[in-house]
This record gives sequence, structure tokens and C-alpha cells, in this order.
Amino acid sequence: MSDIIQLLPDHVANQIAAGEVVQRPASVIKELLENAIDAQATRIQVVIKDAGKTQIQVVDNGLGMSLTDARMSFERHATSKIKSAEDLFSLTTKGFRGEALASIAAIAHVELKTKDKESEVGTFIKIEGSEVTSQEACVTPQGTSISVKNLFYNIPARRNFLKSDAVETRHIIDEFQRVALAHPQIAFDLFHNGSELFKLPETNFRQRITNIFGGKTNEKLVPVTEETELVEISGFVGKPEFAKKSRGEQFFFVNTRFIKSPYLNHAVTAAFDGLLKEKSYPSYFLYLKVDPRSIDINIHPTKTEIKFDDEHALYAILRSAIKHSLGQFNVAPVLDFERDANLDTPYNYKNKEASVPGVEVDRNFNPFQEDSGRNNPGVFKKEPAARWESLYSGMQDEPVNKEEINQIEFESEEVTGSLFDSSEAEPEKSTFQLQKKYIVSTLKSGILVIDQHRAHTRILYEELLKNITVSAAVSQQLLFPLKLQFSSHEMEMLGEIKESLEQTGFVFSSLERDSVEISGIPPLISESEVEMLLEQLLSDLENEVPDNGFSQTDLLARSLAKGMAVKSGMLLNNTEQQHIVNRLFACKEPSLSPSNRSVFVTLTVDELDKKFM
Ligand code: ADP
Ligand code: MG
Repeated sequence: MSDIIQLLPDHVANQIAAGEVVQRPASVIKELLENAIDAQATRIQVVIKDAGKTQIQVVDNGLGMSLTDARMSFERHATSKIKSAEDLFSLTTKGFRGEALASIAAIAHVELKTKDKESEVGTFIKIEGSEVTSQEACVTPQGTSISVKNLFYNIPARRNFLKSDAVETRHIIDEFQRVALAHPQIAFDLFHNGSELFKLPETNFRQRITNIFGGKTNEKLVPVTEETELVEISGFVGKPEFAKKSRGEQFFFVNTRFIKSPYLNHAVTAAFDGLLKEKSYPSYFLYLKVDPRSIDINIHPTKTEIKFDDEHALYAILRSAIKHSLGQFNVAPVLDFERDANLDTPYNYKNKEASVPGVEVDRNFNPFQEDSGRNNPGVFKKEPAARWESLYSGMQDEPVNKEEINQIEFESEEVTGSLFDSSEAEPEKSTFQLQKKYIVSTLKSGILVIDQHRAHTRILYEELLKNITVSAAVSQQLLFPLKLQFSSHEMEMLGEIKESLEQTGFVFSSLERDSVEISGIPPLISESEVEMLLEQLLSDLENEVPDNGFSQTDLLARSLAKGMAVKSGMLLNNTEQQHIVNRLFACKEPSLSPSNRSVFVTLTVDELDKKFM
């Protein structure tokens, strides 16, 4: 057999390497930002077009490069940052592999303009797919400007793999924020399609955080400092009462490098033990300084994990430092643990009562008792449906009609051989609530147990979807517009879903860089729950969009429905229970919640009989 092994040509090797280093426009931004920082820039400007797919430009005022270095910088394994393997253990720069520029130049149209202090004139180099197509002297200030156009132009599969502009922009903003947070003493700008997303002046850590996440952040921060032989900790944690529904604002930096560490995250969470409401996450911006010899960052270029020599000690120090800060700043005592959880539910019955007389939750209601102490049980009984529906005015075209329900009953007979108990004359009696969590109803052949939250979520989800896709929006006008603060990142996302939100009844009177003014909201929700719903929605969008195939509309409907639905733990009166049961079985898919969990279970008499054998 003849010899078949051959060395890959450089441009092919570079393309393969590029796959490792450059996954999406955000990876290019990260590499170019890090190079600018390594070159001691004090001002860095990022300009992107079409989420970086068309163009990414990074301009710095750093050291710049000589003509020879400019040429060399695009060679693979060409770096000025380490000379021997020894240097790996005392790294003070972000780069060291000498791979980034070579990789980027293999898969894009790159133009470099650079000048160092010593040179009279600068150097201009143009490279396409690893080939230098032009090189000349040029006039340019000290520093470096790199423009990367048409990323993946020669790898269509990669290019097609890129997500929507919205998603790619979000990745870029994430990357940009991480770098900017780690280096407050450097000024950063970010422009997208001609509009300014961030303009961050040189400042301190606290101001940088506030500049990125919005003016309101400042008052939420509690400083954390600790100095030990092993580690120097500085930074901030968010006060527990401002903990978020998502893990959004959680940042660790080790020696000015953003890292992810579930283990250290656990240390922070442990410090907050007992201070947080369920399913909420504290914000933190923590800067750790350790001896470079005590960490190993020689890992995959795009990974953000890090290996510490003494993780356990680090854990203990971090936890106690945060605990100490929370105690010292008297954060703990202001929390009100006795607060009735019902007061926190977004489904604000109190407000509903004010605007729609007669709607209230009867907390004393007992389904087994004829007179349960309601103020006006007569009125209540005559028009139970209308009373509940008033919560939904504008949302639903007509009350559920009997035929639809009968059809469902028929279906369930086919499947399970059961029928709803036909005590239609007195529907109030056929359900009761178990543990403020489940609605229990009888079937002819047994019982039906419905998860109230999932059922209501399903109902609202289908109604919202219908509203967004078909009907015209109905809105409830606010007397005073509601002004809400968001980070510019969140505002960017809000801008993208604005239209869909308007279809549900939101009216935005203005969208600014870090705030939004809302003058109308969907009839289904109350003013007090708007902020929570939008926050939840943005965090859902952020966490779910990139990875699954759901459309944005679907995600929006799911998120809003989840936030608006009655929660587990809420007392429902009989009419409300009935309403949920009826509306549920008028849904297209009553058995599953929008996130594909079971909405109800049945227990047949046969099954019961078996248990009594
Ligand atoms: P690395 O950063 O790992 O060294 P890169 O491919 O990112 O590898 O860069 C190669 C070399 O090009 C760097 O080591 C540095 O000397 C030079 N370089 C890259 N970007 C800049 C910049 N913005 N300013 C000055 N020098 C730069
Ligand atoms: Mg680099």
C-alpha cells in the first residue's frame, strides 16, 4: 500500500483550529477585546453590524504593532505573551496561545491597521481566508484597529448554524459585559448598527456595575472585601430582597478573567442561606485575586472554567466574607419572613376587587358547607361564570360553551370509560380544593385531581397564543404610565419582543436605554405584577431561546401564562375552581402544561377497589 499520510496545508489547519476558537461573532469580540487589553489599551471601541455577522470592528489605543509583528500576528502559534512552557504558570495576560488572529483570518475578511510608538507610519494588512491580499503603509494613530467582515464566509455550514441576530447580539453583549466588568479602568463603547448600546467611561468597579445594569443597581449593592494569604476578595453582592428570578447577574472574576464556578456559586448561595425567597438568585460581582501559580487556566480557549489548587479553603473564605458583609450592612433584619406568601403572588385580587366590584377570594370558603359566610352568596351563585369571567374581560370571546365540555366528557369516556359526574344542576358542589394546590373533582368512574397552577397556565397560554396570533389586542389604560428600569441588555431584548407584547395588550409609550414607560397593560394582569412578569419573561427569553426550538411567540405566551396563573398555595373559591375545570377541558391540550408536565391525574373506582382488597 502506498503512503497516504500528508500534512494539512496551513489554511486548512487554520480553518480547523478556527472551529475551536471561533464559534460565533461573540467569540471574535472576546478575542479581540482580550488582545486590546493585553496591549494595555485604556479605551476600546467595538462596532458591530448585523449582530457581528456582517462586520465586527475593535479599535484600541494600546501599544500597537511594528510592521513585522503585524505580519507575524496572523501566524499560528505566534504570540508575544509567552516564550516557554514555564511562563504558563505565571500568566498575567489573557492570551498566550497565539491562535486567535490566525483562526479569525482563516474564516473571515480581516483588515488590520496598527502603529506602535516607535514607528513613523502605521501598517495596513488585508487578509482573506488566511491569504494576505494587500499590505501597505498607512496613516493611523498609535494602537490597533481590526475589522472582521463576513464571518464564516467560506464555511457555509457554520454560517447557517448562527442563530438569529437577536440571539447573537445577546451573546455579544454578554461577552462585552464580562470583559467590561472585569476592567472598569478601561473605557468601553459598543455600537450596533449605528446605535450606541454602551458607553462606559473609565471608573471604579461600583460605577461600572451601575453603568451596565442601570441606575437603580447602586443602592442594591453590598460591598464585600477580604484579604487572606490565599486570596484577595473584593466586589459586591446584591441585597437579598433584590434577588432575581434568574441567575442573570452573577459574575466571578479571577485575576480579571470572567469564570464560571458552580462550586464557588454554591459558596455564595450558602452565605445567603435563609435570606432568600424560594427560587430566587442573588446578584453578585466578585473579584478574586490569587497567585497565578495557584490556578490552571491552560484549558480550552473558549471555556470559562478554572482549576484552583485549594478550592475548599476558597469556598470557606468566600462564604464567610459574604456572610460578614450581609451582617455588617444590616441586611438580614429588614427581611420580613412572616409575610403572607399570598401577598406576594402576582395575581393581585385586591386590585381586581377595586376595579371589578364583587371579585374576591373567599378565604373561608368550605365547599362542603352550604353557607360559607360570603357577603352575598345569592348573587354569587346566580352568576358564577360572569363573576369569574370579569377577570378575563377582553380576553375571551365568549364563555365556554357546554357543547365543548360535553365533547370533552365524551372523549374521556372513550379513553377511560369515565364520564364527569352529571350533577350539572349544582356545579359548585362537584369540586373542592386540596392543600390549596389541587382541585379535586368527581368523575362517574372515580376522581380527578387537577394541579391548579398548571391547569391555569395551560388555559392562559392558549388564550395568550390566540391573542398574539389572531385577535386584536385589548388593553387596559393606566391612569399614570408605569416607568420601569431595566439594564440596557434587557432593554435590547424588550425591543425585540415589543410587537408581540403589544399583541397581548401592552402599550409602550417610550423605550429608552435603560427604562421603559408603559401606558397600557393586558386586561388580565394588574399593574403591580407587570414588573415581575416582564422580569420573568426576559429571564426566560435569555435562558431558553438559544437552546430550544420554540418560537419567540410561544416562549412569550408560556412565560406570561406561567407568571399570571394562580399559584400553588392560593386559596380558590368554588367558582374559581369550577372556572378552571371548565376552561381547562375546553383547551386544545388539557392534559399537559405548556412545559409538558401533567395537568391532572385520575383515580378510578376500579383502582380504589384494588387498594381496598
Ligand atoms: P495571543 O493573544 O494568544 O498572543 P493572538 O492571535 O490573539 O494570540 O495575537 C497574536 C499576537 O498579536 C499577540 O501576542 C500580540 O503580540 C499581537 N496583537 C494582537 N492583537 C493586538 C492588539 N490589539 N494590539 C497589539 N498587539 C496585538
Ligand atoms: Mg489573543
